[in-house]
Amino acid sequence: MNPLRQRAPSPRPLRWPTRIASHLPSTSQTAKALAFAALVAVGAWAAYRYAERAEISAIIERAAHRLDVDESTLKGEITRYDYLPALLSLNPDIANLLRHPTNPALISRVNDYLADVTTDSQAAAIYVLDLNGTTLAASNWNQAVSFVGQNFSYRPYFIDARHSGTGRFYGLGSTSHLPGYFYAARIDAGGHELGVVATKISLDPIEALWMRGDETVLVADANGVVFLTSYPGWKYRTLHPLSAASRARIETKRQYEGPGALEEVGLVRRRSLGPNAEIDAVSPPNPFAPGPGGKRRTDFVVVSRTVAGTDWRIMSLTDIAAARKSARYAALVAALGLSLATIGTLYVLQRRKVIAQRLAMRETLERMNDELERKVTRRTGALARANKSLRNEITEHKRTEATLKATLEELVQAGKMALIGQMSAGITHELNQPLAALRTLSDNALLFLQRGRPDETENNLRVIAGLIERMGKITAQLRRFSHKGSAELTPVPVERALANALFLVELRLRKEAVEVVRDLPDADSPRGELLVLADANRLEQVLVNLFANALDAMLERPARQLSIAVRDDAADDAFVEIVVADTGPGIPEPVRVRLFEPFFTTKPPGAGLGLGLAISAGIVRELGGTLKADDVAADGGASFTLRLRRARGQDLAGEAARQTQTETHRAAADDTDADGGANEES
Ligand code: ADP
Repeated sequence: MNPLRQRAPSPRPLRWPTRIASHLPSTSQTAKALAFAALVAVGAWAAYRYAERAEISAIIERAAHRLDVDESTLKGEITRYDYLPALLSLNPDIANLLRHPTNPALISRVNDYLADVTTDSQAAAIYVLDLNGTTLAASNWNQAVSFVGQNFSYRPYFIDARHSGTGRFYGLGSTSHLPGYFYAARIDAGGHELGVVATKISLDPIEALWMRGDETVLVADANGVVFLTSYPGWKYRTLHPLSAASRARIETKRQYEGPGALEEVGLVRRRSLGPNAEIDAVSPPNPFAPGPGGKRRTDFVVVSRTVAGTDWRIMSLTDIAAARKSARYAALVAALGLSLATIGTLYVLQRRKVIAQRLAMRETLERMNDELERKVTRRTGALARANKSLRNEITEHKRTEATLKATLEELVQAGKMALIGQMSAGITHELNQPLAALRTLSDNALLFLQRGRPDETENNLRVIAGLIERMGKITAQLRRFSHKGSAELTPVPVERALANALFLVELRLRKEAVEVVRDLPDADSPRGELLVLADANRLEQVLVNLFANALDAMLERPARQLSIAVRDDAADDAFVEIVVADTGPGIPEPVRVRLFEPFFTTKPPGAGLGLGLAISAGIVRELGGTLKADDVAADGGASFTLRLRRARGQDLAGEAARQTQTETHRAAADDTDADGGANEES
């Protein structure tokens, strides 16, 4: 198919690979993106140029080969009949005819001869002309378009043949109007010109052959008029503008006629590709591919050369569109390849960066981990040390606590001994009186016995026994009081504790004429005996201390009253309150704030150590209770409230046995001591 008839495919626009672009690493800045775009553009452009050049080179090479063949075909065709004039001049009839142009027999013979030779040689026509250019005989003498009688003196081939011996010409036949190649040769005889023999050859077969080919081939004459062409649209058109003189000459010779004859093709040279090659554009009007409004331009690779022995130019035209399409593909492939390579490179770089970052991160993490482990080890060490020192502190604390407890025990005992010491004068007095009485009674009993007065003796002895029993009771109570308690909390009957404490101060109560006022709950109440959670011995110590202080305070007072009130209906049912009040001077504020300080006393030296209330408060705290001095009216004395935890009946159940057991033990111990004492005394 002739490519000139083919519409050049519309080039697909080269699009920027947006999808690829969108996958560019987000970190790339505008500069990077521009560099990337520039790289791709330059690469694509280079690929395009390279591919185009290669394609054009191939086209030129192909066209040159083709022109070799076409030129030799053409030359073969136009030189094929060069022998004919010489052959014809050998025929005596032709020379005779030229000498005797009107001889009918000769004319007839020559006509037949020419017809035979034409048939044999396949020429279009052969004819004989006299020196005036009139045809004397012709191969087509018997056809409708016969040359016989026609005058061709104006035809260039005749003129040239007369002047130079041979003449060549391509043009339309003036009679037949069929194009052909004319070759003429002069016939001389004996140094004289006789006439001219002309041959017309049709080049249509060559043209038909070229039309079957792929490329466009054309042959233009010296004026640039295309007379042989594989593209019929260009037949007899000119490649370049004709000068007025040339145009007039052609018209005179009636060389080319027909529609569009001598009109311009519009071939514009665009670029030279070498000595015989160039790129030409067909400008509007474009007969090859007339686009809308005929404005389309089509570029061709034009390879040309002069046909040897003529002034013709044979040309090959190849549409460049296909080459440019291939070049565009090459550019697209290059752009894609470059994009892929760039993206691949970026990806690899990015990947390496990520890996490097990960490695760095891992290293940092490992470092942090090591640091953390070191810290943990350090901290663990510090913790272990702190723990150890804490354990040591706890041990120390426990030891201190034990020491304190022991000290408190000692203190309690010391307080107790102090109390006994304070009471010792009274006790001694209490024991001395019966002792003196005993002496008198026993002396009297002896006398009564000697005088034989048994009744009086018996009476005296009974009194003595009574006195001894009372003295025993006193010493037993003292011994029990001085006994070192177990400090165990047990339910203690409040009433018994009060009775025991009162017994110890009973001597003073009596001596100092103190009235004791008791306000105790009903012992037969349905709630049963009132119990507190305490150590009986220590509770008694506290009570004795409170009583002794009250008695001390009232020594100088005219009216002495010791009030003991027990309240079990207090707001808080869990506690029992024992209130000890006196009619002493009361406690002034400066004394009140220091009451429980150890070694604080207002008593004269020897009378008090100032430990009583301090120890009592300590004991009460241990029992889980409180001891405080009350605010009483200005005219009233002092009042102390002892608050202790209530013990329930069931607490006593288990305790009763233990209490009994303890008391049995104590009695046994007391008896042993009493015996010992008696022994010591005796
Ligand atoms: P001491 O009896 O050896 O002085 P205490 O600790 O028992 O030690 O008492 C401290 C002080 O509290 C007493 O010296 C006294 O001034 C004051 N005090 C205690 N009880 C009474 C009371 N019932 N009336 C007035 N003052 C009291």
